[in-house]
Amino acid sequence: MRLAKQIAKHNRLYHAEDAPEISDAEYDALVRRNSELEEAFPHLIRADSPSRQVGHEVASSPLSKVTHEVRMMSLDNAFSDEEVEDFVARVRRFLSLAEDEPVAFTAEDKIDGLSCSLRYEQGKLVMAATRGDGQVGENVTANVAHIEDIPQQLPEGVPELFEVRGEVYMEKQAFTALNEAQEEAGGKLFANPRNAAAGSLRQKDASVTKARPLRFWAHGWGAASDVPGDTQSDVVAKLKDWGFPVSPDFRRCADVGGMLQAYRSIGEGRAGLPYEIDGVVYKVDRLDWQKRLGFVAKAPRWALAHKFPAERAETTVESIDIQVGRTGKLTPVGRLAPVLVGGVTVTNVTLHNRDEIARLGLREGDRVVIQRAGDVIPQVVDNLTREEDRPAYVFPDHCPECGSEAVAEEGEVDVRCTGGLICPAQRTERLKHFVSRGALDIEGLGEKTIDQFFALGWLESPADIFRLRKRREEILALEGWQEKSVDNLLASIEAKREPDAARMLFGLGIRHVGAVTARDLMKGLGDIHRLPEKALEIHAYRQEHPQAEGESEGKFTARMVEQIKAILEVRTDGIGMAVGFALADFFHEEHNRKVWDDLLSEVSPPLYKVATVDSEVAGKTVVFTGKLETMSRDEAKAQAERLGAKAAGTVSAKTDLVVAGPGAGSKLKKAADLGIEVIDEAGWAEIVAAAG
Ligand SMILES: [Zn+2]
Repeated sequence: MRLAKQIAKHNRLYHAEDAPEISDAEYDALVRRNSELEEAFPHLIRADSPSRQVGHEVASSPLSKVTHEVRMMSLDNAFSDEEVEDFVARVRRFLSLAEDEPVAFTAEDKIDGLSCSLRYEQGKLVMAATRGDGQVGENVTANVAHIEDIPQQLPEGVPELFEVRGEVYMEKQAFTALNEAQEEAGGKLFANPRNAAAGSLRQKDASVTKARPLRFWAHGWGAASDVPGDTQSDVVAKLKDWGFPVSPDFRRCADVGGMLQAYRSIGEGRAGLPYEIDGVVYKVDRLDWQKRLGFVAKAPRWALAHKFPAERAETTVESIDIQVGRTGKLTPVGRLAPVLVGGVTVTNVTLHNRDEIARLGLREGDRVVIQRAGDVIPQVVDNLTREEDRPAYVFPDHCPECGSEAVAEEGEVDVRCTGGLICPAQRTERLKHFVSRGALDIEGLGEKTIDQFFALGWLESPADIFRLRKRREEILALEGWQEKSVDNLLASIEAKREPDAARMLFGLGIRHVGAVTARDLMKGLGDIHRLPEKALEIHAYRQEHPQAEGESEGKFTARMVEQIKAILEVRTDGIGMAVGFALADFFHEEHNRKVWDDLLSEVSPPLYKVATVDSEVAGKTVVFTGKLETMSRDEAKAQAERLGAKAAGTVSAKTDLVVAGPGAGSKLKKAADLGIEVIDEAGWAEIVAAAG
């Protein structure tokens, strides 16, 4: 699905590289479109769907990694009052509350910063980490020592262990001053305060952080030996007592009317604030309710970010450049006459593809309206001079990098260079992808190094990376390399001789095989060496089984998907025709087989092992029936999934456990007939409690 890929790309640019290409509003729109599609067609949800991911794996950087004890979540977004009302209604439904039972929420402004987790043990700051991908972040303990808002020591009487979570940010004025200084010194300019904060915090050399005026405010917590209060407001008040700045606009709202009022009053004061905010965050105030509501995919069910509308400005598109990516995709980029939008100077817009340019009727020299929301390089929303009589922009039909023909496949929007491996842009982009953090994660082999080694003819394919050790002397002879840096590079390459199979597979950049899909494939196959034969089996099956006459498209698809899953030995729903055929196409190409065999002559990925959830019902199929008294059916299902179990709707021979409440009828009888274990709600609660 193109949409999912686009989202993944922008996600990576934003979170891992601090270099977003599109506005937040535009990104949000992509994510929403994806969610809408998933809601309408749940059978099409991909395992690597953006709705199941948060942030991005951390970028290449010398900072060490930290695994969060409690995952750092992101928030679901709302853009209208109706969506906020729906959210409140969903919360009530989930908790199955009586109509007259009030639900209070907290509201506070959403500062546009970098999420950070601060771990205090016995009141002393022992670790500070960025969010990263939510599970693994970067260690910035030395860096936050220079942020005055962050206490190193908390007052007496605080819990033994407490992780404070909040945002590191830079005020608007400091951001402008920093960019002026950077410009004078010929340094890198930051697109916006958020990027400046991220770039300033994530520094190997903490003295750089010291020179940057960073601020912090707290809005939540992670792991804690004790939570001081029964509500969100209680704990935020405590955080303030302990010396943390919190949102000056923090308040408690008795109902949805109060929430929307908070949104409007905070929005009205927005322009006058010394920092950038991009919305208002609501949280269910009662912590026992937060706990019951839990999480769905990447976000808590008990919180919501209500975003502000985007800011707009007019400017001229001076030229349209074409960039060529790893898959050969030609992406047009508009170079703008610099313009200030909401306090940030903007010079580039991504134009996405040929269709987007056509939709806007865009040509070089056109006056356009651009839009950004709280952040980053924006989108073009309108072309003011489209009626002017000038020739239309002609999208290139040849690759600007290698001169090969560039075409769009039938039904595809994207124009791709057909040069494949003769195209230097594609080859280097693929190598960069192969060594990136989400893939093989080879430290020290950065983009510039790959470009340089590629130009020297040293890197033709991934396997060549593992032959660089034979070029030690040649590398040493290059400018900028010393004994130590060469040895570090070669050591980090050697450290990946037995790479994680799923990461290696992802690194090959086979179409439709994202990080999650690669993991699902390896969970099924175990041994990566079996993949080519499996892919060729799919290829043969496809040849032998064209759609039968009179067979419906849906039936044909279902049959194919079943066969593909059987061949690949996977059970995940995210793997179907697109993945199966992409694998078949890849391994059917003799050239790709060569690249594969060559790589496997250099590396030996061990058998893929699956981490199991430690609960009594992990891997089992559970059916809930009858009336549940302490929770809604949705909550019960969510608990089952969290414990690694599958919640099914009907009792069958595959069912392992039935949880029956009062009034359970035919399902209970069927369970008894099949000899399936039946427990009551209290018994279920014990299993949940035992798993922690
Ligand atoms: Zn090309």
